[in-house]
Amino acid sequence: MTESFEVHDRDGAARIGEVRLDDPLTTPALCDEILADAGSRWPEERETPTGDSEHLTVLPHRALPAGTPEEVAGAFAPEYPDIDAPSAAVVSTETATDHGTDAYVLSDAQGIVGHARAFVEAIVAVRRAIPDDTALYLPGVATPANAALLAYAGVDLLDSDRAVVKGTQGKYLTSDGEHFLEDLTELPCACPACQVERGEFDREDCASHNATVLEAELSTVRERIRRGRLRDYLEGQARHEGWLTAALRRLDQEYAYLEARTPVIRRAELLATSEETLRRAEIQRFAERVTTRYHNRFDNPLVLVPCSATKPYSESQSHEQFHSAIGFRAHTVSMTSPIGVVPQELECTYPAQHYDSVVTGEWTAGEIEFVASVLEAYLERNEYPQVIAHVPEDYRPITERVEDSLGIDFTYTVSDHPTTTDSLAALDDALDGELKYSKRERQHNTVRAIADYQFGPRAGDALFGEISTESFYPKLRVRGADGDEDDHLATMVPQYGTLSLTLAGARRWVESDAPTKRVEIDGFVPHGSVLAPGIVDASDEIRVGDEVVVEGPKAFAVGRAAMHGSAMAEGTRGVAVTVRHVEER
Ligand SMILES: [Zn+2]
Repeated sequence: MTESFEVHDRDGAARIGEVRLDDPLTTPALCDEILADAGSRWPEERETPTGDSEHLTVLPHRALPAGTPEEVAGAFAPEYPDIDAPSAAVVSTETATDHGTDAYVLSDAQGIVGHARAFVEAIVAVRRAIPDDTALYLPGVATPANAALLAYAGVDLLDSDRAVVKGTQGKYLTSDGEHFLEDLTELPCACPACQVERGEFDREDCASHNATVLEAELSTVRERIRRGRLRDYLEGQARHEGWLTAALRRLDQEYAYLEARTPVIRRAELLATSEETLRRAEIQRFAERVTTRYHNRFDNPLVLVPCSATKPYSESQSHEQFHSAIGFRAHTVSMTSPIGVVPQELECTYPAQHYDSVVTGEWTAGEIEFVASVLEAYLERNEYPQVIAHVPEDYRPITERVEDSLGIDFTYTVSDHPTTTDSLAALDDALDGELKYSKRERQHNTVRAIADYQFGPRAGDALFGEISTESFYPKLRVRGADGDEDDHLATMVPQYGTLSLTLAGARRWVESDAPTKRVEIDGFVPHGSVLAPGIVDASDEIRVGDEVVVEGPKAFAVGRAAMHGSAMAEGTRGVAVTVRHVEER
């Protein structure tokens, strides 16, 4: 039972946490000041410390050399006593397991930091082996350059040891790397230690500077996590050291680890400035859901159009022009980097209206590969009587590749630019004789497409087969087919392009064949929120921001998840679900 560490905020695997001491520590942070080490058991048998509320007490431990065989390590593994104070257990990458403490000290951290593959494999394995609401401490490894990556991977506690030692060796650290002091003509820093003449600046000053810069970097990291923008920062900052970029890429290959911890909706904008952006969990998840869950319900031809800088796309000038040429006679799908393809019903759905990218008028090889593979998978799943590519010349490498691989021919309607009179007239002509779909069909299909995306394949039919819609897109209100006053099922949330359910909607979800995301609670009626200790079990598939059904002996409720499923099931602190509607049983 962890009582002295709580996670308050999450940005992927990175977290804002709190070590609950008399003087609380907000993490990711340096823990030099709060540690009380009860020492190694090798030289002598140690007494169990009592601990105190001002320190994180490291329980007596036995460090073993790296590569110690598992059975030997097991034989020497100490029993960790349950003390009545904040405590940490020492584990290695091989032996990490739940000891019931608030924090875990990784004894072989120095062997993995600096090696992308070893680091990523170890952190992912250790984070999975210890409970989510415990702090992970990597001693003796932090530098201003690696702190952001360590936090991004899921590390909560660091210390200034390495930065200070480097200073005494005459190595001047910054968030972009390491410099030999004697090579510096000036000191590129405004910290107190750097306010002396260049000639007077000694190694003691250098150690002090290094520690200060590390502290400052961790403030930047915490602020980035709070704003949900650590990844954007890291994509730039990691460039300064080869192993950091390699570790970032390796982490992206741990999709299941990152995706489980990445919210499905968020307010923060996603900035796409590097090739790595294409590998982000948010981007991969959108592409994965569009190509495995989304299902086109229109009988009309498909028109592929370029994306616009204005979001949602339909509010841009170019898309208004496409729209008036199309006149509800075709289904529109936007092609974009870094998102891939965006069907018209999902233009508001996170992150389709939340990204900003670099526009050069040229696609990189990686972008061509990514968008072509998404479009190909999309067209393999969704059949159309005709595909019209209303795209500029620079989209041709993508569309032609897909035509070749699927053996279908697209109709091209753009000459020069998609919004010229000639291009728009050609688009209009290509749709000559096609029937229009109604506003009702468009709105109902939008609700169903969002449900597929949010709840799973065919969920749109299972939950919203028979409906009526009210109000104006994108603020649609969904009712049952007979329009009964009490039959309000869901509301579309324009900011996220998702559906929020009412109790009647939640009941339909539970009764349908679509997989329900359930949170099982003890015998109480939740008001406002459900806290982690009240949870008996939760679906593994739950992500932060997901709609969830909350069920217990005394209550049936619907709300939005504030933690991922396994964190809810293991967690002992914090808000797990924000409840929207509840009824007593
Ligand atoms: Zn300085």
